[in-house]
Amino acid sequence: MKSGFKKLSFSFLSITCLSLFSLHIQAHTILIKNAYIMPMTQNGKDIPVGEIFIENDKITAIGTQVNAKADTIIDANGGFVLPGFVDTHSHLWVNLMRGQFRNAEGKFFPISNELAKNMTPQDTYLAMYSGALELISNGITTTADFFDNIHGPAWGEAGLKALQDSGIRAIMYYGGPDKTTIKPIDLNNLQKLKQQTTSRVNLGLAWRIPRNLQDETNWAMRDVEYKMAIKQNLPIQVHISGDANAMFNALIQRKYLSPAVTVVHATDATPQQLDALEQTGAALSLTPLSEHRVGYGLTHIEHFSRVSRQGLGIDGNTLAGSGDMFDNIRLAALTMSGYNKDETKPDPRQLLELATRRGAEAIGLGKITGSLAVGKRADLQIIQPNTLNMSGYAGGDPAALLVYSAKKDNISVVIIDGKLIVKDGKFLNISTDEVIKQTHTAAKQLLQRAQQP
Ligand SMILES: [Zn+2]
Repeated sequence: MKSGFKKLSFSFLSITCLSLFSLHIQAHTILIKNAYIMPMTQNGKDIPVGEIFIENDKITAIGTQVNAKADTIIDANGGFVLPGFVDTHSHLWVNLMRGQFRNAEGKFFPISNELAKNMTPQDTYLAMYSGALELISNGITTTADFFDNIHGPAWGEAGLKALQDSGIRAIMYYGGPDKTTIKPIDLNNLQKLKQQTTSRVNLGLAWRIPRNLQDETNWAMRDVEYKMAIKQNLPIQVHISGDANAMFNALIQRKYLSPAVTVVHATDATPQQLDALEQTGAALSLTPLSEHRVGYGLTHIEHFSRVSRQGLGIDGNTLAGSGDMFDNIRLAALTMSGYNKDETKPDPRQLLELATRRGAEAIGLGKITGSLAVGKRADLQIIQPNTLNMSGYAGGDPAALLVYSAKKDNISVVIIDGKLIVKDGKFLNISTDEVIKQTHTAAKQLLQRAQQP
């Protein structure tokens, strides 16, 4: 398998080398001017005509005029500049299974479990690389990727390399080989992989609790994983699904909630359970598109208002249908107004905050990203309202405009860690046509292997 992975690396060599070379000679300073800046800081006000100055990986000035000369000047031409979106929970490895989940003809879990067993490290690389690029093209600059299909060290390496090569900021939560919760997570490999991490792509623990909540042997195994992560300062994500109520209670009673933990899919949580979570400082990840799709229930954001640390997640582009954070926000907004029979209920700005600053805070990256402020890493997007779907805007509420009207096509620029990744809506230095071709081929071959008797 290892040699297969090397072969894959060669097939991507031209893309990666070109990318690194170009980034290396790229300017160290960027000035964004003529921008409508929405900083998304706590109580921060919009700057209707402003500038942002970026030096290396950080924002070093922001205001109406920053009086600085830069190597690269980007004229936002009145477009909206926002922090990049933060995807607080994903499974990018599922990205070779688009179209396979066919509702009555084939549900997500049985199909994805079957295909997952047949995935090679090469498949994993392509799934996660193409998935991360899709997120970036949707203005998502940070992802929290729950990688729970690791069959050996090569799979872990492939996933980490895919995230690093894509340019996205990420926490890769290192998990087990499947969803059965029978097999342990390979903590030795996790430790080894930690040496390959960078300040942009780090590791966490993709933790699961025993499917049989009475199985104390399994709890003992899970306890070792949890304690290792706490000791090593690794963030932890855990799913609450299936018997969600009992699972949430088990987490509370066994004292596994802590500031290091993000609980995912708590759509059914009771107010008492949410209060218990809040007291421990743990966080929530809500994934409206996927939670609605697999029938977990309605993601009614208001229900979770008692929890300070929370954000939105895509939960895998394939299950959600796409890596589109605007779709996710819009669904959350419409669920809220429909549920309450009240169009005034959703606050568009609060929803944008959930997708940016609050999401970053939920996954422990609030000091680094999620808002536009001096000292923060330069992770941002420019949204151009020069398309038919955003035409006719003459003022009003820009947050409402973005939440209800903006689409991926409006994203013209994406900068991550101070590096210009997308310009004029296109990736610099990455041939997406080639990536799409290779990903299609890998998906086809995966299906053939899985269907072999
Ligand atoms: Zn998940």
